[in-house]
Amino acid sequence: MAAVRTLGSLLREGTRRLERVSDSARLDCELLLAHALGVDRSALYARSAETAQTGAVEQFDALLAERGAGRPLAQIIGRKEFYSLDFEISRDVLVPRPETELLVEVIRDGVNSADATPRILDLGTGCGAVAVALARALPESQLVATDNSRRALAVARRNAARLAPGRVRFLQGPWYGPAEHLRFDAIACNPPYVKTPLSGDPPLCFEPAAALDGGPDGLRELRVVISGAPTHLKPGGILAVEHGADQGAPVRSMMRSAGLEAPITHRDLAGHERVSAARMTVGD
Ligand code: GLN
Repeated sequence: MAAVRTLGSLLREGTRRLERVSDSARLDCELLLAHALGVDRSALYARSAETAQTGAVEQFDALLAERGAGRPLAQIIGRKEFYSLDFEISRDVLVPRPETELLVEVIRDGVNSADATPRILDLGTGCGAVAVALARALPESQLVATDNSRRALAVARRNAARLAPGRVRFLQGPWYGPAEHLRFDAIACNPPYVKTPLSGDPPLCFEPAAALDGGPDGLRELRVVISGAPTHLKPGGILAVEHGADQGAPVRSMMRSAGLEAPITHRDLAGHERVSAARMTVGD
């Protein structure tokens, strides 16, 4: 005999099921139930004594199973907050991480304030989070964002159309390829920097390898991005890249070898070296 299941009891049972895989089991569960019901999470509280419809219970069950297998919550509900903005996410893009907000802040604070309309390039934009956040943070800026993946660009275009309409020009191709002849005041990049072979564990096993795979030393794509920066930066322009916690020293050294000046590394909220930045020489 099926017991009557209230939304409140579904939340309690679901939270227990997710405790094994998630540090935020209750929150995950609320977001999944709200998604199954097609309502806002905040609406759940007032309705916790309500009896759940069979269809919604089944859908919630299926979502719990996916989360239980380790799939990132953002991929299941198709959304992720970044820089206080609500981004659409798919399986074709890296889920934006909170530490990547540091990349946005370093560029936001690092663009030359004398420049009224800074031109900014976001390489490997994925869902467009960095480009869109920068467009919002710097209202006069002009953004160009590239990505090799057409599927990722489709997601990024929808995010920009909703969150920063008309502000970001998207171009398809590898790194600087589609922006060959353009020069910028700032370049931002969160490249793939995980060492291969990639771990088969969640969440990375659910995300596109093209967004994670940095080769055997994790630096393969960072080399391309850093060595290409001088020909795409204006004098005084800034390059900022995200990297692994143990990659600060090699990244600063690559920046110096490329002829960029005064590389510095910023730490994320966990205290890890996460974003390094350097400037193009101003010249005489
Ligand atoms: N920050 C991701 C991680 O979880 C890696 C993202 C990337 O390679 N750009 O390790």
